[in-house]
Amino acid sequence: MNQVASDTRCDEKSDMDFVSVVIPFYNESGQILMTLETTERVLRTLDIRFEILAIDDGSCDSTWDEILKYREKSSHVSALRFSRNFGKEAAICAGLAKAKGDAVILMDGDLQHPPRYIPGMIRLWREGYEVVEGVKSKRGKESGFSRLAANAFYGAFAKLSGIRLKDASDFKLLDRKVVNHWNTLPERETFFRALSAWMGFKRATFPFEVDDRQIGGSKWGFFKLVKLSFNAVTGFSSRPLMLISSMGVIFLIVFFILAVQTLVRYFDGKAATGFTTVILLQLLIGSIVLISLGLLGLYMANLFQEAKRRPRYIITEETSDLPEPSSGTQGKAPASDK
Ligand code: UDP
Ligand code: MG
Repeated sequence: MNQVASDTRCDEKSDMDFVSVVIPFYNESGQILMTLETTERVLRTLDIRFEILAIDDGSCDSTWDEILKYREKSSHVSALRFSRNFGKEAAICAGLAKAKGDAVILMDGDLQHPPRYIPGMIRLWREGYEVVEGVKSKRGKESGFSRLAANAFYGAFAKLSGIRLKDASDFKLLDRKVVNHWNTLPERETFFRALSAWMGFKRATFPFEVDDRQIGGSKWGFFKLVKLSFNAVTGFSSRPLMLISSMGVIFLIVFFILAVQTLVRYFDGKAATGFTTVILLQLLIGSIVLISLGLLGLYMANLFQEAKRRPRYIITEETSDLPEPSSGTQGKAPASDK
């Protein structure tokens, strides 16, 4: 039935571009209505057919119920629900796998990627760009620490992988051709921002101001961000492994210098004074060895994760399996934000 309704819609406007908007949600029950309404209102002003694909990334609050409630009002929304929290990267992958549009737009569910930029993105896509990416011209409210940590990470990532991501975002439009290629990428641990840059294609950027989050706080915990950063570095660069070898060479040179100095002192009869040097060296070399082992372990862990070939996510519910929402309200324009 659902199929019939949307097919009819397709027939009426079959010559129009079909755009999918993918939005991941994790514990965003208070935010969903505003996000979906605002997005749909913008999409309705354009000469396109569209679907909004909401991904519930294993939320513990009433996120899923809120999505279903909105779906009662709008035939444009479809949704799927993960069996647990698999993370935003997995939600993006699920969205890209399920989206049917000629172009797919990815945006955050907290309106920090403002839907008012969507018309401009579609304009650039129609000009022939296959990847249209939002670059933050003004970052939203964030703590001094997270700004510092983000800058440090992007600086190190650019040096190690050669991919510059400073001020890049996940607010992107991908052409169907790009999405099809993305869906063939085999790795389990993805880093959307970098992997989409690695893919190439004809790209355009547009500046956007990150709006402040209206409801709740960021859904990224400190450890989740650390894990994402390590995955990103180990997934994109083997330079840290080369750094370890270089450090080994440097320490060998230092060892030879100190060995000469120690022997000279020994023959001068002042050998005991080298105690401080020994302790310092032991601490330094010990910590370097441990860091290096940890780093090797991270690469091994990455290989291990990929070798297991587990799915990126598990879907427990999909609106395509649910009965169609009551037809009386189908397709109505969303209510006002207020
Ligand atoms: N999100 C998600 N899974 C997670 C964490 C976040 O789907 O494990 C979603 C979240 O609901 C939001 C988007 O990803 O729609 C961006 O998250 P957030 O606003 O917390 O990130 P920030 O703006 O702090 O980078
Ligand atoms: Mg946010």
